[in-house]
Amino acid sequence: MRYAAKVLRAENLSKIYPSPSGNVTALESFSHNFEPGKITAIMGPSGSGKSTLLNVLASLDVPSSGSVFLADKNISQLPEPERADMRLSKFGFVFQSFNLVAVMTALQNVAFPLGLAGIAKAEREKKAKGLLERFGLGHRLQSLPHKLSGGERQRVALARALANNPDVIFADEPTGNLDSKSGKLVLEALRDVANEGRTVILVTHDLALANLADVRLEMRDGKLIRAIQD
Ligand code: ADP
Ligand code: MG
Repeated sequence: MRYAAKVLRAENLSKIYPSPSGNVTALESFSHNFEPGKITAIMGPSGSGKSTLLNVLASLDVPSSGSVFLADKNISQLPEPERADMRLSKFGFVFQSFNLVAVMTALQNVAFPLGLAGIAKAEREKKAKGLLERFGLGHRLQSLPHKLSGGERQRVALARALANNPDVIFADEPTGNLDSKSGKLVLEALRDVANEGRTVILVTHDLALANLADVRLEMRDGKLIRAIQD
C-alpha cells in the first residue's frame, strides 16, 4: 500500500550566519516543492549551501527568513520542543557517517527510535526485524555495527530512519563513505522508500547517483541555479 505522504514546501528560504569577518549568506531565496514518491538530489560544490538547506528543511535549524511547510502547516516557526517532536515523528535521517550506536546490535539500533516513541519492546523488535529484512539484513540482526560493512551499516541507518514511518527521509551524502557498488544498493533502498510514496531528499556530490534521482537541484553560492525534472 502506498503511504500517503505530505508535500514539503520551501518558500523563499534564506539563512545568514553572522561571523567576525561579516555575515555569510549560506542560503538565499530558496523555493521548491518536494514531491512525495520522488527522490530529489541536491547537488553543488562544497560550500554551496547543501547542508544548510537540508538542516533548515528538516527543522534542525531555523531559517533567517522564509518558511517550510509540511502539508501546508508552517513548521519553521514552531518552538523547539514541537520541532523536536516533529523530527521524531515525521522525518528520518541518514548521514554520511552512519551514526549508529556502537554498543547496540543492528536490531537494537533500528528499534531505538520506536522506544522513544513509547512502543513496547516486543512490537518494536518485530517492526525493526521487518525493516532490516526488507533491506537484505535479516541475517545481521544481532551484529554490532563494527561487524558490518559500510553498505550494511548505511542500510541499518536507513531502516532506523524508517522506524517511525516518516513522511520525509533526509540523506546527507549517504554514500560518501561507500564504494560505488554499496552506494548503488543504498540508492536502490532509497528508491524503494520513495516508491512507497515517501519524499526522499538526498544531498550528493556523486553525479552518477544524482542521475538516478527523479529531480536534481543545483546549488551555487547558496542559490538554486537549476532544477531538472526527469
Ligand atoms: P555544503 O553543504 O554545500 O558544503 P554548507 O551548507 O555547509 O555547504 O555551507 C554553506 C556556507 O555557509 C559556507 O560558506 C559555510 O562556510 C557557511 N556555514 C555553514 N555553516 C555555518 C555556521 N554554522 N557558521 C558560519 N558559517 C557557516
Ligand atoms: Mg555539506
